[in-house]
Amino acid sequence: MAVVKKIEADNLALKSDSARPDGDPIALIFDESAPGRRGVDFPGGAASEARALELLGGELCRADIDGFPEVSEPQALRHFLRLSQLNFGQALQFYPLGSCTMKYNPPLNDELAALPGFTALHPATPADLAQGALELMARLEAALAAITGMDAVSLAPAAGAQGELAGLLMVRAWERKRGDVRRKVIIPDTAHGTNPASCTLAGYEVAVAKSHRRGYLEAREIRRLLDDQTAALMVTNPNTMGIFEPEIEEIAAALHERGALLYLDGANMNALMGVAKPGDMGADIVHLNLHKTFSTPHGGGGPGAGPVAVKAHLEPFLPIPRIARRADGGYEFAAERPDSIGRLRSYHGNFGMLARAYAYILAMGADGLADASRIAILNAAYVRKRLESRYPSASAEPAMHECVLTHKLEARAHVSTLDLAKRLLDYGFHPPTIYFPLVVPGALMIEPTETESRETLDRFVAAMEQIYDEALAAPERVKTAPHTLRLGRVDEVTAARHPILRWRRDDAERE
Ligand SMILES: *Cc1c(COP(=O)(O)O)cnc(C)c1O
Repeated sequence: MAVVKKIEADNLALKSDSARPDGDPIALIFDESAPGRRGVDFPGGAASEARALELLGGELCRADIDGFPEVSEPQALRHFLRLSQLNFGQALQFYPLGSCTMKYNPPLNDELAALPGFTALHPATPADLAQGALELMARLEAALAAITGMDAVSLAPAAGAQGELAGLLMVRAWERKRGDVRRKVIIPDTAHGTNPASCTLAGYEVAVAKSHRRGYLEAREIRRLLDDQTAALMVTNPNTMGIFEPEIEEIAAALHERGALLYLDGANMNALMGVAKPGDMGADIVHLNLHKTFSTPHGGGGPGAGPVAVKAHLEPFLPIPRIARRADGGYEFAAERPDSIGRLRSYHGNFGMLARAYAYILAMGADGLADASRIAILNAAYVRKRLESRYPSASAEPAMHECVLTHKLEARAHVSTLDLAKRLLDYGFHPPTIYFPLVVPGALMIEPTETESRETLDRFVAAMEQIYDEALAAPERVKTAPHTLRLGRVDEVTAARHPILRWRRDDAERE
């Protein structure tokens, strides 16, 4: 078995984190295995095992199970708890991953979403027997419409990216209805990768708008690209530079004048909620990421919720199922939706996410949401200001809820942004988003969120400063980081393309 490298706890920040098991935490369970050791003995012993086999049928039983470790219940429990602690998580560490809004998710929301009335409800339950769940969804739709300043909301999309696809399919349906089908969608050069991907999936060509060097879109550039084949502009606001688009209203007017629509990517609503509404900016469609802004746990690919909100002229095209009010005040799924783009997924979205988001909105209230946005902005401005001498901002415009920083370490010490990010892990921080947006070479995109304290931000700033100075004084130390984690630098491409998700005896022996 591979032996873990000796752990170097050389940073102040790591002191509390230095008590690690002496050995490979994953391999430990194999070392502890002894023949015949059992966690649970089922009543009836071998006889009941034989009976279970008979009931299951031989074809459902794996023959290659042999070689699995045999351990007691506490050994198994410790194994899985150890594994869970090898991960970085928002509940354990500061997690300033830009654009992802890794804010605190109050466990109260989990408790409410786990009420038996919700969890025991089968998604195929007839509407008559699920009035409470439908009412929750209708109320959440109304709250999101109020927050975004839009007229109607569908909770169907399961992620931001699916909200984008739904939005573009609605643009296409709207064009068809008017007999004016168009070919292209304009996207700024700072866009999130899902934006061009959604356009392609929806059958549109992408025209790239160049941002001003200060990091925002100019109405002049949009007018230059606009023609009678332009279906829409898809833009994030505040954009991925963390800057509020100052010319958004003028841009919306220019689009509308030419019969094109404004799609606002609302992934960055954590800077706006309770303060400014996309509807007031001229947006025709906006998606929200409930798993970002509205405090539901995310990461690792799901589950999520990406509701789409539209102005009245697009309401007929919203995906189904739509919730409607009955004459008697109850709720039902609307039957007649001839112009709808149809179903996006099975059933009604990830309902648990919807319950969490609704609980969060009620707990915060309008004033609480506005405070959260303001503090998110304050925290980003604070980090940006404190780091300015070593990591200058990519733009002179004021930052909203996240800031994009740069550095000269590549030129001065051959230390890359990736090296800095890896070194931050040794200090107990999840790194910020790196190399995004693409228009900023070596970008560090930091989103502290509103739920972090001044003390946490100060510790993060101190770590960033220390790493900068270390990169100049002892660059090798930074270039070979992390030094304190079980795994150093993984081959991320291979890990993503050929993930090993299951233990196999052969793999373990090879190691
Ligand atoms: C996260 C994000 C998306 C995509 O949302 P998912 O829920 O991850 O599909 C789109 N645009 C921006 C700006 C984002 O940050």
